[in-house]
Amino acid sequence: MDDQNIQRPGEREASHYIVTPRGVKCLICPNECTLKEGELSDCHNRIARDGKLYTMAYGNPCAVHIDPVEKKPLLHFYPASLSFSLATAGCNFACLNCQNWEISQVSPTETRNYMASPENVVNQAINENCKSIAYTYSEPITFFEYMRDTATAAKARGVKNIMVSNGYINEEPLLELCRVIDAANIDLKTFDPETHLKLTAGNLKPILETLKTFRDKGVWVEITNLIIPGWTDNFDHITRMCDWLAKEGFSGNPLHFSRFHPQHKLTRLPPTPLQTLTKAKEIAIKAGLNYVYIGNIPGIGGEDTYCHACKVLLVKRNGFEIEQNLIVNGRCPKCQATIPGRW
Ligand code: SF4
Repeated sequence: MDDQNIQRPGEREASHYIVTPRGVKCLICPNECTLKEGELSDCHNRIARDGKLYTMAYGNPCAVHIDPVEKKPLLHFYPASLSFSLATAGCNFACLNCQNWEISQVSPTETRNYMASPENVVNQAINENCKSIAYTYSEPITFFEYMRDTATAAKARGVKNIMVSNGYINEEPLLELCRVIDAANIDLKTFDPETHLKLTAGNLKPILETLKTFRDKGVWVEITNLIIPGWTDNFDHITRMCDWLAKEGFSGNPLHFSRFHPQHKLTRLPPTPLQTLTKAKEIAIKAGLNYVYIGNIPGIGGEDTYCHACKVLLVKRNGFEIEQNLIVNGRCPKCQATIPGRW
């Protein structure tokens, strides 16, 4: 048989692409890769073959785990529930600090993969008593078709869908996802466009557009800002980011300032000092953001939830465990304020 006609594991014709005189052009994310025959995409998991574009990441996750939803992190989305979490190889960014570079910066041909159809994933999630399925660890935008089909099958059976993502996606595929995704944690890496490009190889603006689209479509959003010493610890940039979030209506959406640990190409940097994270939190609260968390530092109460109105402690956490949750029907039991989120 002609090698070109062999259906390789995980290969499916992609969606959202066009054929141009220079090759097939993927329209999933702003990279808009144009690929000649046999060429692999920037995200390492799409390939041009026989005049068509194929995803190589359909139904072949390389990582599958059952996580507490708090690990995503999502702190205002069905606390203490389990999330069936999966990833395939591939990412449309090349972050210098990537903590999952062994799977994000390679192709599915280089990882050990499971075979799991969308229906199979949903069955496993239900059997394992998971409230949700999370598309996470690498960049789910690059396994768009697999995520979309799995999320559609999950929604039909009452299982929620979570996308943990850099938010670097074009509008049309994003709108398709908004029909089936219930919650997202989006990495907002820095508010400085130049630093963003140097750190990730991607642009900032499309991510802001994604946040606004999710907001408009009613997808629950939490935002993570990893503070990397010397890269994203500029308080002026943090102030501008917080002001933008407040102005755009994200005051009730959790903002997670997360501690950097030396990773990948930034192993010579120190972990983020606690004072930097504390100062960032002060800036965010001053800007008008009501739910600001400090992540990746256990034991300091940085991920406890306080009512924005009366300041009473509502949810006490210890790592990913919930020690106390006083929220009743989405409200503070003391002052009856509605606590934003899904409870
Ligand atoms: S999803 Fe991948 S192939 Fe498509 S444009 Fe983005 S980086 Fe390129």
